[in-house]
Amino acid sequence: MPGLSQSLFHTCFEQARVMSADTIFGRILRGDIPCDEVYSDDHCLAFRDVAPQGPVHVLVIPRKPIESLREAADDDQALLGHLLLVAAKVAKLEGLEHWRTVINTGAEAGQTVFHLHVHVIGGRPLAWPPG
Ligand code: AMP
Repeated sequence: MPGLSQSLFHTCFEQARVMSADTIFGRILRGDIPCDEVYSDDHCLAFRDVAPQGPVHVLVIPRKPIESLREAADDDQALLGHLLLVAAKVAKLEGLEHWRTVINTGAEAGQTVFHLHVHVIGGRPLAWPPG
């Protein structure tokens, strides 16, 4: 039953995620692995996605290791606002007038890295709704 096996896959994926002590973005933040940085400040880092979905595809991540928007707390309010402002700053730095910001939350919504991140995608027409 395709629906069941997909659900089982996501359950296993979520368990593996919880058991994992770190994410690839944590390793990027620590400088353990390189990234193509486009912006950095005390609260966040922005770098190019390794598998770009458009001519511009940048990820904005908080330095604080929040797993996803689901785990964000009331005292993250300023940080979340900052991430969106940095996303807009990055889009403008990249010369975009139109772009899409995306935050996938949970495996079934497409989240594969469990460190909160904002996708900034642009440079081509973007269809709606997404898949
Ligand atoms: P999501 O699927 O919303 O969790 O997005 C994770 C994104 O991280 C994907 O678009 C991946 O292509 C991207 N990604 C994974 N590893 C790296 C990496 N080492 N450097 C840059 N982007 C990455």
